Amino acid sequence: MIRVEDVRKRFPGAAAPTLDGVSFTLETGRLAAILGPSGSGKSTLLRCIVGLERPDSGTIHLGGQAGLVFQSFELFPHLTTLDNCVLAQRLVAKRSRADAEARARQLLEALGLTHRLDAYPDMLSGGQRQRVAIARALAMEPAVLLYDEPTSALDPSLRREVVETLRRVGSLGMTQLVVTHDVALARASEVVLVLDHGHLVEQGPPQQVLDAPRHDATRRLLAQAH
Ligand code: ADP
Ligand code: MG
Repeated sequence: MIRVEDVRKRFPGAAAPTLDGVSFTLETGRLAAILGPSGSGKSTLLRCIVGLERPDSGTIHLGGQAGLVFQSFELFPHLTTLDNCVLAQRLVAKRSRADAEARARQLLEALGLTHRLDAYPDMLSGGQRQRVAIARALAMEPAVLLYDEPTSALDPSLRREVVETLRRVGSLGMTQLVVTHDVALARASEVVLVLDHGHLVEQGPPQQVLDAPRHDATRRLLAQAH
């Protein structure tokens, strides 16, 4: 389970805190979507969870490391699909070549990439590159996988593929937290969190938050999305 308790973060010189007491829990294996207007603190929250940013106060319990799937995927262009998924396992997790490859092959198969093991990133579609980035993150066995706007770098026609990919990752038992503007992706999640001015103003299942929103910030977001 992920537990975020009263996390606060104010950047030096900023007029207002970016995160102003954010608390939530997420059960293991669940997929949660974070919605919120631009500047509401979504990326800062993810960066705090992954450890790229240090909260001023509050606590974050993950039971392990967080893995971040970068918007631009950040694959190594000179490495194949398989080697992109092997490198960090070798260098950081100190796994043997055989162990790292076995794990990478298994994850790439689960993500439907067995036929692309020897391809270089520039030979892959945007959706395939994203799945390689996800497999690479999963190979490090994170406690939670975080995505910052995973559909924004992709053609709109690929959005449904992203939903399918997150479902596949969820079926592996992974806990996932996804920042998104895509209401369809939020609807495919189990929990929706709405961030506004550094406050979590709403959280619950999509049927509640998206179909019966209680907060003006949520209503504004949904009105914009339609
Ligand atoms: P979102 O991802 O919801 O669009 P962000 O978390 O990126 O929002 O940013 C929220 C606010 O925090 C913005 O006003 C932004 O300018 C500010 N902010 C984010 N990162 C920094 C930083 N490193 N230094 C100063 N201000 C920052
Ligand atoms: Mg952001």
